[in-house]
Amino acid sequence: MHASSSDISICVKNIQQFYICMTRGMDSRSLVPPDYPSCSTFVDLKVRACPNLSPCLLSSLDSTHHRDSHLSLTQLSLLTELVGHPHTVLNISPCFSKFQAVRMSKFSITNVRIFDGEKVVQEQGTVTIDQNGLITDDHSCAASFDATGMTILPSLWDTHVHVFGPGVPTSTSIASLSDMLKCGITTAIDTGKMSKEQHDLIQNRPELPDIRFTGNFATSTGSTHSKFQMADSNSIVDDVEAATTFVSKRVNEGADYIKIVADVPGPSQAIIDQLSSKAKEHGMMTIVHASINEAFRMALKAQPDVNIITHVPMDKDLAGGDASRMATKNTVAVPTLAMSEVFCKAGFKPHYKFPNAMESAKQLHRAGVTILVGTDSNHSPVGPKHGESLFREVELLAEAGMEPIEILTAATKLSAKCFDMLDRGVIAPGKRADLLLVDGNPTEDLQALRKVVKVWKAGKEVYSVSSSATSHD
Ligand SMILES: [Zn+2]
Repeated sequence: MHASSSDISICVKNIQQFYICMTRGMDSRSLVPPDYPSCSTFVDLKVRACPNLSPCLLSSLDSTHHRDSHLSLTQLSLLTELVGHPHTVLNISPCFSKFQAVRMSKFSITNVRIFDGEKVVQEQGTVTIDQNGLITDDHSCAASFDATGMTILPSLWDTHVHVFGPGVPTSTSIASLSDMLKCGITTAIDTGKMSKEQHDLIQNRPELPDIRFTGNFATSTGSTHSKFQMADSNSIVDDVEAATTFVSKRVNEGADYIKIVADVPGPSQAIIDQLSSKAKEHGMMTIVHASINEAFRMALKAQPDVNIITHVPMDKDLAGGDASRMATKNTVAVPTLAMSEVFCKAGFKPHYKFPNAMESAKQLHRAGVTILVGTDSNHSPVGPKHGESLFREVELLAEAGMEPIEILTAATKLSAKCFDMLDRGVIAPGKRADLLLVDGNPTEDLQALRKVVKVWKAGKEVYSVSSSATSHD
């Protein structure tokens, strides 16, 4: 049976009861009565009158659902059946929110090593995805996949990517996003300069990663970045007043974060401070690019504190004390060593040396700075490639002293925490089933990360090594 979300709306009559109405195109929100409580996080559907339904269908309707969660096709067909009985009454408690129909059936991955985002919690366990694309500890009534010898973990984050680029066809960008998904990346942060239109074009496509974006970065006249093809007048911030305008524009455009490029030459400390201050006023996190020692120092000096510093100094390693200052301030680092490696090798700036980047990352780690996994993957001929460069990044972070478990935590739970997207990043009941299944044990050998078997995004299988092998035949 096929049905779209516009085929069914659910009319809330009062807090205890609702009727199902079949009205094409009707927005269920408009049916919510004015005294409807706004609070509510959960809706609990209890089927009171529904003859001739199998126990599994009943239990699927009977479970607890998150607000704004997706209604499975099974549930939808059940509800559609009930529409035949217009006065069927369902109890509802404590309240109800809009449902959308998606195709999903309950699914278990069995006999699998489970890394929950922080530690291995079971050597031979079961992870089940429910009809709403969430993780559940109710393993009944589910189809299953035997994953003996494999490890399941929350799918990965790449916290520094560039999806679009000047002259890059949209089809190429989409292919890059698809490459990321095949490598187990289901959430990524685009740090410039994705437009709102580009973001909307790719967002909510189940077969692509979930992307958050900064939009234009802030730089100043005469800086290296101001000469980039992707810089335009919207990126130029030459005084404090312009900094205020810059942040307002990004907010109005719907950007998720503010990206500042600290450099010499580049925006003054006063401008960086103003950008940071205005971003805070708007409740937005700041991500500061700093690839030379002096820029890193300016980023650390910013008042108020910036949230994330991305890259590490390549001209010389971090100045004494900067790493511990960063740890004290709780500023997060995204070193992008995979980018440093290819950039230094290409010799664009002869005084940039990769050992400086590596030494800086080691200092950050020793000082206890929170380090996230980001690649800076982009479409330049030498740039780190989307997807696979994350595997290189984790190897380089291991060289910088991080343990495999620390790195996996950084790429999952810690990223979700830092970017405040707590619906994902861990394997626990009620969390969004963004999952990665790999052959082997990446908690001991990071090379196993490369052996991707399956990837799920919001409970939907979006990649499977076997189906991809078949499709190449
Ligand atoms: Zn970048």
